[in-house]
Amino acid sequence: MFAMMEDSRLEALHFAQDPATGLKAVIAIHNTRFGPALGGCRYLAYPDEQSAIRDAIGLAQSMSYKAALAGLEQGGGKAVIVRPAHVANRGALFEAFGRMIESLGGRYITAVDSGTSSADMDCIAQHTRHVTSTTREGDPSPHTAMGVFAGIRATALARLGSDDLNGLRVAIQGLGHVGYALAEQLHAVGAELWVSDLDGGRVQLAVEQLGAHPVSRDALLATPCDILAPCGLGGILNAETVPGLRCAAVAGAANTQLADADVGDSLQARGILYAPDYVINAGGLIYVALRHRGESLTTITAHLSKISQRLAEIYAHAQADRRSPARVADSLAERLLYGS
Ligand code: NAD
Repeated sequence: MFAMMEDSRLEALHFAQDPATGLKAVIAIHNTRFGPALGGCRYLAYPDEQSAIRDAIGLAQSMSYKAALAGLEQGGGKAVIVRPAHVANRGALFEAFGRMIESLGGRYITAVDSGTSSADMDCIAQHTRHVTSTTREGDPSPHTAMGVFAGIRATALARLGSDDLNGLRVAIQGLGHVGYALAEQLHAVGAELWVSDLDGGRVQLAVEQLGAHPVSRDALLATPCDILAPCGLGGILNAETVPGLRCAAVAGAANTQLADADVGDSLQARGILYAPDYVINAGGLIYVALRHRGESLTTITAHLSKISQRLAEIYAHAQADRRSPARVADSLAERLLYGS
């Protein structure tokens, strides 16, 4: 366990269990150099405890990198609640988790993530103020989509020489909270869309409302396009999928898109510009962090523009150093977090 913590330079790992509600939770606090650790809470079934812990640690690390490059006074953390096979009272389970967060005295602030909702955050909020994305604070997804949209502009400028998105061909994998909002923004400026989703209803909606071209789930990654925007699950860019890509750039919302850092090098070798996921999808984090501090929507929107500036900076470094944008982003984040 300590070796795993050392490898990712994790500050602390907290565990709690509560037989009365079925709570089994892990909170990973990666780095608090710039402020309290902020990161979502997953509520998922895991094959074993080690996978839950690994997930929490890996995600906490990427939250530190994301917050640092987004210029937030916030550290990185993540919580994982192992979803029980049966839960008698979901509200009571999340209230127990709220008590766990409160016991950390503000070193960790939680938020919505896979498997959790604003209603769950409301239950947590009954026991601690160190929680964001409650129903009062609202869904961060539209802000994530706004950041990705701005990031696509920066990526188009760097790779294609123009940030005019009219006529740009964009393939979107996943039309959920972020993907659909992104599709709407792209459609509004005249981009042509190719879309897929596990839910045929979402695809049909995009076809009817946005004139999108439907693509089967298996064919989406190989769709000829200017920008591929992964907005579904992570890990989709790997040694098997990269050779089949037919895009000029990859710029989308999904977390942990690259199976490993070498995949970033493969994209670079193929001339495909990659927008590092934790840079381009930071809009949701910016929203929850600043909203939690009571900042106005005007301030939040202004801060979102830092995403495209940061991407432009990363692309310029990558070109000058002949390194992949993914490696450049990691180096910049590590310099900010550790001064090395
Ligand atoms: P969501 O669950 O609302 O939507 C995901 C969609 O992707 C679903 O409609 C699902 O059916 C579809 N999907 C999953 N796998 C697919 C596949 N192989 N092919 C086609 N469609 C597929 O999630 P979301 O909130 O929109 O988030 C999307 C991604 O962005 C996730 O990876 C998430 O971690 C990341 N992200 C989200 C936010 C946010 O604010 N919501 C912030 C940062 C990162």
